[in-house]
Amino acid sequence: MRTRVLAVDAEHPAEEVLQEAGAALRRGELVAFPTETVYGLGANAFDPRAVRAVFAAKERPWNDPLIVHLADMSDLPPLVARLPDAVHALAAFWPGPLTVVLEKSARVPEEVTAGLPTVAVRFPAHPVARGLIEAAGVPVAAPSANRLSRPSPTCAQDVLEDLDGRIPRVIDGGRTVYGVESTVVDLSGERPVLLRPGAISAEDVSSHLPDLVTSPPAPNGEAFASPGLLTRHYSPRARLALFVGGTAAERAGAMKQAVARWIAAGTRVGVMLPSEQLLAFDGMAISRATLGRSGVVEEAARRLFGAMRALDRAGVEVIAASGYDLEGLGRTLQDRLLRAAEGRVIAVGR
Ligand code: AMP
Ligand code: MG
Repeated sequence: MRTRVLAVDAEHPAEEVLQEAGAALRRGELVAFPTETVYGLGANAFDPRAVRAVFAAKERPWNDPLIVHLADMSDLPPLVARLPDAVHALAAFWPGPLTVVLEKSARVPEEVTAGLPTVAVRFPAHPVARGLIEAAGVPVAAPSANRLSRPSPTCAQDVLEDLDGRIPRVIDGGRTVYGVESTVVDLSGERPVLLRPGAISAEDVSSHLPDLVTSPPAPNGEAFASPGLLTRHYSPRARLALFVGGTAAERAGAMKQAVARWIAAGTRVGVMLPSEQLLAFDGMAISRATLGRSGVVEEAARRLFGAMRALDRAGVEVIAASGYDLEGLGRTLQDRLLRAAEGRVIAVGR
């Protein structure tokens, strides 16, 4: 299969492209497309065969459910058994990178929800995603458009790196805005639960839902509540070593020592840090990937997955990265880094 790349303007995507891709979705073909979080691999959510093709292209395990993307609030009621009040409290975030888990209706095929009695839904804000879903005229089930356990794609090139020749088309709308996946909140139980920290901070969700249950990510990346939140996820091919604790300066010092040891042992090393902190590694034979300006977590989020992919392309065997405080987007960054580290966490200053 040849994968076609359809380039569009992110703000004003050409209507012909949206109509053509929307029609393809409706008849059961797959379309990769940009959202404000990461690129998604979409299928007609009402077509079980199309949904199975998404799992096959990604090599995604069948027990990891997909998020259903809608263009309009009026498309939601047919998909769910009931609409709890909390949905209205969270409507302030729509369209945008917030996903809610609700009791599903019979309309939603079990392929989409991995057999669960609940369905995850969101209303993307990206003009390409919205235009495409509208053109398709059906809800679009879409996970991130990456191969199993790879970092999520934040540009069309990342999608091709993983799925070229495995899907018929990708709409290229440039880089995504947030760079990390949506925040997932489960509203199907007695109390709302944060299942996955994401592009909207837990604090922002809590300000609309004061009884939100959030539990900090386990340091070893285990014990995540959501099915399919596989421990090994978002990972580069290289081993990632995550330095946590201490002050930023203590972490940088410990990283520098470890990096020097690895280089001496003949290991190819990559370092992923804000530009200013990369300066400390001047003169060392490493590959570098910047996470933007120091202290600007939005920039780190936008660059995180691209940095992992760039260091993989550079052929490093180990990536050194620094942890984040569980505050605002820091919680999301720490969650993704812990999963990528798969337990290789180095505590500093204790
Ligand atoms: P992805 O778009 O690749 O980030 O994957 C979607 C994620 O949404 C899954 O891995 C789940 O963690 C979450 N999700 C989707 N549906 C449900 C559901 N019914 N219950 C809980 N979590 C869900
Ligand atoms: Mg994913």
